[in-house]
Amino acid sequence: MAPQPKPNAHPQIKYTKIFINNEWKDSCSGKKFPTVNPATEQVIAEISEADKADVDNAVKAAQKAFERGSVWRSLDASARGRLIHKLGDLMEEHVNEIASLESLDNGKPFGDSYGQVLEGVGFLRYFAGCADKVHGKTIPADGKVFALSRKEPVGVVGAIIPWNYPVLLLSLKISTAMAAGCTLIVKPAEQTPLTALYVASLVKEAGFPPGVLNVLPGYGPTAGAAISNHLGIDKVSFTGSTVVGKSILEASAKSNLKKVSLELGGKSPLVVFNDANLDAALKYASDGLFVNAGQTCIAPTRLFVQAGVYERFTKMYVEAASKVKVGSAFEPGVFQGPQVDEKGFQKVLSLIEAGKKEGAKCEIGGKRHGKVGYFVEPTVFTNVTDDMRIAKEEIFGPVQSILKFDTLEEVIKRANDTMYGLSAGVFTENLTTALQFSKAVRAGTVWVNEWGIVHPQTPFGGYKMSGLGRELGLDSLDDFMETKTISINLPSNH
Ligand code: ADP
Ligand code: MG
Repeated sequence: MAPQPKPNAHPQIKYTKIFINNEWKDSCSGKKFPTVNPATEQVIAEISEADKADVDNAVKAAQKAFERGSVWRSLDASARGRLIHKLGDLMEEHVNEIASLESLDNGKPFGDSYGQVLEGVGFLRYFAGCADKVHGKTIPADGKVFALSRKEPVGVVGAIIPWNYPVLLLSLKISTAMAAGCTLIVKPAEQTPLTALYVASLVKEAGFPPGVLNVLPGYGPTAGAAISNHLGIDKVSFTGSTVVGKSILEASAKSNLKKVSLELGGKSPLVVFNDANLDAALKYASDGLFVNAGQTCIAPTRLFVQAGVYERFTKMYVEAASKVKVGSAFEPGVFQGPQVDEKGFQKVLSLIEAGKKEGAKCEIGGKRHGKVGYFVEPTVFTNVTDDMRIAKEEIFGPVQSILKFDTLEEVIKRANDTMYGLSAGVFTENLTTALQFSKAVRAGTVWVNEWGIVHPQTPFGGYKMSGLGRELGLDSLDDFMETKTISINLPSNH
């Protein structure tokens, strides 16, 4: 059982170096970069800055760990599972330290970080159990052969992690790759390197062989690009912006055709019909939007409300937004922290200005909150039309757009009128309406009378420009594996 939540606003920063081969190293260049607390704009720590030379070293370590006959490759699949379980147990034991570091570095409320560490532990446990349950088949091939398929790990994986859910997405990517038997180079986002380094120390403590997991903090265009261009990396698993996702696919095409899976942006529609339970719809819609200060790829940023309840629901939503408590991660009762950095903060403010200019009505918020830290007021726009920038672009901030609709057919069309397709949702008491919408909407996950629940067991990922491939669920292991056919000549086949 996890310890009771115990936030620490001043956690000790024990790990600031690069982690290769189960050892802590300075970067080859000797360079360091600052990581900042977005609530105070103060530097928390200076972190060793990896770039291409360090990626080369890490790839060598990961390749060595993956070699035929290595300790890692010689382990039974079930023993790999036990190591992953051990890592999950250690993360659970240290949940308070990890969550405190996450909140300091990212700015999200401590309770959210605490929950996300444990959700990450859930991912580790799910994939630990999968390690010895993914296998090939015997196949009734034509002719006199005995044919079978085998699942083998793809090799060295580069995992590029974003800053919005650092430890959760780290746990997701490493658990899947390790269960498949791969070795890894992980690059946390430059804004939030602290928890990945802490987890690296637990990987060593759990007893993983050197080189299985390497953690290289650094910037995207340097360390990140070195990973996506590397000839020695067999697969990249990326979560982040659509623009960078495209550059990773391009780097793969230009280098070694490494496999690429991408989990990218979204502009998710949430549809509230006249017959919906409005209290439930309100809770999921506003929590789903304001959680993580709106920096969530699945945020329900296009809230379509049917004409019969539009006035009433809009009022309820604005009232809910007025009660969202904004503040720093360690203040009790805070629901919404700061944006992660100055760049994100400025982008949100400029899209709010675009909304005002294009004629949407700003019902509440619309400005910076406070004077220090990258805080934005919870903001709600009504009278939003589909062509406005706030209805089309991913804002990644606490900004809700409310749009009015009349019919199911109309809202299906409008919900699908986007380049994204990560998630969608519908609130109605009518089963037929719910199912018709769920079938017609082009999105990787559809929530009915709920929002934002992600299970380790169910596939998650995007249609269209929201991504390539799926994470979570048993099938996601395939993305970290090759399938080999072995065809055996068997003359006396009767
Ligand atoms: P955002 O724009 O929201 O910060 P990014 O997609 O830029 O999101 O960041 C997600 C991750 O991708 C981070 O770890 C970042 O360092 C990394 N990254 C950014 N640019 C590149 C790049 N050109 N190549 C590889 N990784 C990159
Ligand atoms: Mg930070």
